[in-house]
Amino acid sequence: MNESIPARPLPSPADFGFDVEQRLESGGARGTREQPLGRAGVIRTPHGEIRTPAFIPVGTKATVKAMLPETVRALGGQAVLANAYHLFLQPGSDIVDEAGGLGQFMNWDGPTFTDSGGFQVMSLGVGFKKVISMAQHEHASSEVIAKDKERLAHVDEDGVTFKSFLNGDRHRFTPEVSMRIQHQLGADIIFAFDECTTLLNTRVYQEDSVDRTARWAVRCLDEHARLTEERSHRPYQALLGVVQGAQYEDLRRRAARGLAEMTGADATGQRFDGFGIGGALEKSELGTIVGWVSDELPENKPRHLLGISEPDDLFAAVAAGADTFDCVAPSRQARGGTMYSSSGRINAKAATQRRRFEPLDPECDCYTCENYTAAYLHHLFKAKEMLGSTLATIHNERYIVRLVDRIRESIIDDTFLELRDEVLGRVYGLDVAREAGARPVPAG
Ligand SMILES: [Zn+2]
Repeated sequence: MNESIPARPLPSPADFGFDVEQRLESGGARGTREQPLGRAGVIRTPHGEIRTPAFIPVGTKATVKAMLPETVRALGGQAVLANAYHLFLQPGSDIVDEAGGLGQFMNWDGPTFTDSGGFQVMSLGVGFKKVISMAQHEHASSEVIAKDKERLAHVDEDGVTFKSFLNGDRHRFTPEVSMRIQHQLGADIIFAFDECTTLLNTRVYQEDSVDRTARWAVRCLDEHARLTEERSHRPYQALLGVVQGAQYEDLRRRAARGLAEMTGADATGQRFDGFGIGGALEKSELGTIVGWVSDELPENKPRHLLGISEPDDLFAAVAAGADTFDCVAPSRQARGGTMYSSSGRINAKAATQRRRFEPLDPECDCYTCENYTAAYLHHLFKAKEMLGSTLATIHNERYIVRLVDRIRESIIDDTFLELRDEVLGRVYGLDVAREAGARPVPAG
């Protein structure tokens, strides 16, 4: 591990890699191969390493809102994830390309990710959520997608036609278009273009969708291989295939197995460098579903779970074999005044904070908690001062980054169960550790 990246004249898949350092011995699921699925490892990219499990802060439009990139680095962010769809619309992926790629453009010298845009083109405005509760999908129907097609996005065999959320212009994303955009953006880790369904779609629709996503995945591999050769002046970009299949074990396993074995249709024999786990997940099934997928995927490639940051979800997903995570929630909630803490959520605007002349979370080591009081934060929010968003975001991002770093350490020194019981017990105020999924309302 930790070999230095060899100097190469052309970008090469060898410039990217993943090594497992330690397997989760107790507290994690074992797959059909009788191996622990959870692990700590290191992802190597042309812009540095990511020690996993790791939480990746989201900078949708090439900025983690309200934060300097230097601040993201200082709070322990190892990489940032931007969104291909948003940057395609604004400023345009050609501009980011001319700037030297996403990292250079936003003054971030560490590893970068972009997601494919699939989730955004299919979901914006519909209110898709990554994790939903049981009550929201009582009636599975193909009507749901039919309605959304008219309103927002139309999926066909070749790709997706959709309206810009900025100005209503019609655009079309195909696997090839997504690859071209993501090569222009130039992130170290990029994702195949997939169809994102919801738990509301019928089983028949989910089957068709998984098969279509597999056909799109082959096209992504081919276009990625072509662009890698054409753009040999740029560092190697690792392509992750995205596993869909909703809540169905057979579909999830089939999709994961298919992507694990997949090679491009052309002569290069391009394969995926890692895998994303996408789609809506029922909260109580999250660990189970990630476990099915991890069980089918190769051990020596990283697995990214898209759109997750809730503490109980993080523990469940790590135990089931996920390595990296991203989510807008920590920064979005921070801007609304919802603060994470070691004893549950705190509303920074609540009257209880008005005279709290101590750090928001006395156990937190972030810049905000080391230098400012909860009372000051409360004042900034009440006065609608911009600094409130900045200080709150620093805290929430640090809280989640540090939590996942602690999970990593607990895998290495085999204290995962103790950490999980302690953190979840305090955050949710109950002993939820043994009944993953039964999440009480977080403390306000
Ligand atoms: Zn803090």
